[in-house]
Amino acid sequence: MHELAVTEGVLKVAIGAAGGRRITAIDLVLGAINTIVDDSVQFYFDALSAGTLAEGAVLRFRRVPATALCLDCGATMEVAPPLPDHCTHCASRYLHVSGGNEFLIESIEVEDDENPGHPGDSERQ
Ligand SMILES: [Zn+2]
Repeated sequence: MHELAVTEGVLKVAIGAAGGRRITAIDLVLGAINTIVDDSVQFYFDALSAGTLAEGAVLRFRRVPATALCLDCGATMEVAPPLPDHCTHCASRYLHVSGGNEFLIESIEVEDDENPGHPGDSERQ
């Protein structure tokens, strides 16, 4: 399963970045045309993280749009599935879609025993 592999990657990176501290939340960026299902990632994460420092961590997903550039009129538009097959400005069919396929860790929240809840807990990638 695609989601299983990416979830294993997220867990590995998060634990490595947390430096031995307990992970409370992970913010993930998911592109609009990426086929990864966030519910599946959460499902695998709950299973894989059991007994690790990331057990019980909350996954938060932020969807980012894809951008289509019209090669005829130069217009750009944010798009999401189902992708348009023509420019909404000039009806040209020469669209170049970019972005929207992201899957990355935006930030990781870890527990800090000395100062719980401090905003500096987040470690950006
Ligand atoms: Zn156009």
